[in-house]
Amino acid sequence: MGLKVCLILDGATLEEDLQLWERWRPWVDLVELRADCLQRCEWDQLGHWPLLGQVPCILTLRRREDGGHWSGSEDDYTAFYLSRTGEGWDWWDLDEQARLPPQAIQDFRARGGRVLRSIHAMDGWQSDAVPRLLDLARGADAVKYAVWIRTAADLGKLFELSEDLAEVPRVVIGMGPYGFPSRILGRALGSLWTYALPREGVGPLGQIDPRTLKTVLRVHRWEVTHPVFGVAGDPALHSKGPWVHNLGFERLGLDAIYLPFPTDDLEATLQLRRWIRLRGLSVTVPHKEAAATLAWYADATTRACGSANTLVASGEGWVAHNTDVTGFLRPLLQQWGVESLIGKRITVLGAGGAARAVVWALVDRGAEVLVLARREERAKALAEALGARWGHLGPDALPFLREHADAIVQATSAGMGDQLGVDPLEFYAWEGRELAYELVYNPPITRFLERAKAAGCPIIGGWEMFREQALEQFELFTGQEYPQPFPEFEG
Ligand code: NAP
Repeated sequence: MGLKVCLILDGATLEEDLQLWERWRPWVDLVELRADCLQRCEWDQLGHWPLLGQVPCILTLRRREDGGHWSGSEDDYTAFYLSRTGEGWDWWDLDEQARLPPQAIQDFRARGGRVLRSIHAMDGWQSDAVPRLLDLARGADAVKYAVWIRTAADLGKLFELSEDLAEVPRVVIGMGPYGFPSRILGRALGSLWTYALPREGVGPLGQIDPRTLKTVLRVHRWEVTHPVFGVAGDPALHSKGPWVHNLGFERLGLDAIYLPFPTDDLEATLQLRRWIRLRGLSVTVPHKEAAATLAWYADATTRACGSANTLVASGEGWVAHNTDVTGFLRPLLQQWGVESLIGKRITVLGAGGAARAVVWALVDRGAEVLVLARREERAKALAEALGARWGHLGPDALPFLREHADAIVQATSAGMGDQLGVDPLEFYAWEGRELAYELVYNPPITRFLERAKAAGCPIIGGWEMFREQALEQFELFTGQEYPQPFPEFEG
C-alpha cells in the first residue's frame, strides 16, 4: 500500500471545492476541506459535504499563524467543531491549541470520526517537537507535524523525528523547497498521506498537484525498499529530470523513483542514505564542484574539468561522473560530422559551472576557445585554468568574437526563468554562417537562438544536450539503456 494523496480543497465556496474535486479526483485518495478558506456564509452548508460520501474527508479550520486564513477566538474555534459532531466527517484536524471538551471528541469518534492533532512550525525546527507530539498523540488517532525546512540538513531531522514517533500514526511534512522530498518519500517517514494542491505549479509551502504526484513521481507506488534517485540543486523543483527518468523507470518496470532534492547543502542531502536507498543523483547549480570533491572516486573527465553532474552510490561512498561533457559534445560533433575540433574557433558565453564543462570539452577536442563573461575576472580564471582565451562579454569583444565564431555557445543562465527573453549577445549581428548552440532548454527557442535562426545560422537547442547527458546518466543509474523514445520537450 503506497502513500495516499490528500487534495487540499481551498476554494472560497463549496461549489468551487466541488469543481476542484471533480477536476483532480482520478489522482486523489482523500480530501482536506479547508473551512478557513471558505466564505463564512458557506459554513451553513458545510454539513452536506460528507454526505456526498465520495471520498474520505478531513475538516480543517487553519489559523492564520499556522499558515491558514482563520483568526477568530478560541471559543469560536471550539464552537465551530462542536456544532459539527453529527456531520459524518472522517477526520477532524485539531491543532495543538484546540481545547474541545473530551465528551465532544468521544461523540465524534463514536460516529466513526477520527482525530488528527497537528502542529505547524512555520518558523522552522522546534527542539521540543517530539514530546509535544507524543503528548498530543494521547487521545488522538494520528498526529501531524508540518515544519518549515530552512536548510537541507533539517530534512534529516524529520527522519529522526519519525523514528521517535515510530509507534504513533502520523503525517510528517517538511514545508518549503528544502522540505519537498518529504512530500514524496512519505512512506519512509511513516506518513499516512501527503498533501496536494488543486492547481499546477509549486505552492508557497512546496505542495504540487496530485496528477504530478501520481503520474510523474508515482508516490503511490514507491516503497521504502525501492531505490531513490533525484536531482540535487538550488533550485531543483523546475527540473525536467523527474519527468524523463521516472518515465524510463516506468517503461522498464523498475520500482524506483526520481525526485527533486532542492538543497543548500549537498553533503547533508547525501546523508539521507541513512533512511532511504539513495542510489544516484543528478547534480546541478551550485553543487557541481562540491559533487566532484565529495565523491571517493571521480572519473577522468570529472577530475580533469573539476565538476561533476552525476553521483552514483558505491559502497558507503559516491562515484562522480560528468555526463555534461559528452552530452554537450555529441550534438555538436554530429552537426559538423566530425570527431575532432582541431581548427575550429569557438566562443563560449558565461563562466559558470556549465561553461566550465563546455570549455573543457572543446579544448580537449582541439578547438581554440574564447570565453566571454560579464565579469571578466571570472572568464579569465576559467580560461586560464583550461587553456582558452578570455574577454569581457560586451561590444568591446566584437573583434575577438568575430575571430572565434565557427560556433557560439550560450552557456549563461540568461534567457530562462526571471531572465526570459534576455539575449546576452544582443550587441552581435549574426552573419548566417556561425553555429548557435544554446544550453538553456526552457524555453526551447530563446531570444539568442531566435536571432541566430533569423539570420540563417544553424542552431542547436538546449534540449539536445539535456537528452544526451540524461541518457548517459540513466545508464549510470540503472545499468540499462534508456527505453526510447526520449520524450520531446514539454514546457
Ligand atoms: P551558473 O554556474 O549559475 O552560471 C551562470 C553563468 O551565467 C554565470 O557566468 C553568470 O554570470 C552568467 N549570467 C547569468 N545571467 C547573465 C546575463 N544576463 N548576462 C551575462 N551572463 C549572465 O549556471 P550553469 O550551471 O553554468 O548553467 C548555465 C545555464 O546552462 C543554465 O541556464 C542551465 O540551465 C544551462 N544548462 C543546461 C544544460 C543542458 O543539459 N542543456 C546542462 C547544464 C546547464 P555571473 O557570474 O556574473 O552571475
